Amino acid sequence: MSRITYVNGAYLPEEKAKISIFDRGFLFADGVYEVSSVLNGKLIDNTAHLARLHRSLNELAMAAPASDDEITAIQEELIKRNNLKEGVVYLQVTRGAADRSFTYPVNTPSSLVMFTQEHDLIDNPKTQTGLSVITVPDMRWGRRDIKTVQLLAASMAKQAAIDVGADDAWLIEGDVITEGTSNNTYIVTHDGTIVTQHLGHKILSGITRQAVLTLAKEDDIIIEERPFTLDEALQATEAFVTSASTFVLPVVRINGTDIGNGKPGRIAHKLRQIYLDKALNGTLA
Ligand code: PMP
Repeated sequence: MSRITYVNGAYLPEEKAKISIFDRGFLFADGVYEVSSVLNGKLIDNTAHLARLHRSLNELAMAAPASDDEITAIQEELIKRNNLKEGVVYLQVTRGAADRSFTYPVNTPSSLVMFTQEHDLIDNPKTQTGLSVITVPDMRWGRRDIKTVQLLAASMAKQAAIDVGADDAWLIEGDVITEGTSNNTYIVTHDGTIVTQHLGHKILSGITRQAVLTLAKEDDIIIEERPFTLDEALQATEAFVTSASTFVLPVVRINGTDIGNGKPGRIAHKLRQIYLDKALNGTLA
């Protein structure tokens, strides 16, 4: 069955949804995006996603294509038209279509595209087994805090992981783990402290990271926001990742070495439960 998508003011079946070959998202990866999860037909933590969208747009001097209320109304309309109960709403803003030039076009309206994807987010089998990851050199650019659509390096890293039978890649710079291909990364030390890379230009400020760290602090877990090395990760008692579409998922193996006892960890499990409870009863953030 064809989905209904949104392209610059029009709701269209996916076969009819088209953008210009001159769109700067296509030619220059000159665009930003957000992925908001949907549970029971409701957007999760969407206000925080829209706040990050504005930050990304501001960093690139790109105009917002619509107000937050308008964007939310379109997201909700797509959820309704596609009868989406569980999955994600993807939204992408690009600088629009203009004759190809490295300089930003003047007075070109930005472009807004949205679509839904159905996924079983809660009953993810990886919750039970945990993820196996490999480390791949982080080849991405210097402003990973801006959520741009230039995802080729991350895509290459993920494919490299799949090609060797792993689930995902952890990106490594020198001896430090920056983040995953599409998630933030965490280890738990022997004294129960969660360690995760601090915010800055090297990683994306994950919306799920923000929520999960708040929930962990409320649960009296000590958090250290600092770089951690691959060696530290291999010595950790557990490891996990967070993202909007996976919430919290345990990592049980890195480069073929078991983390802790090689089973999903207690803290990752607990944080996933707390996050999901709050998301489902509408009390997140
Ligand atoms: N880092 C990267 C590189 C990502 O692509 C993502 C997912 N978009 C995240 C972290 C997690 O961010 P969020 O929790 O907002 O999905």
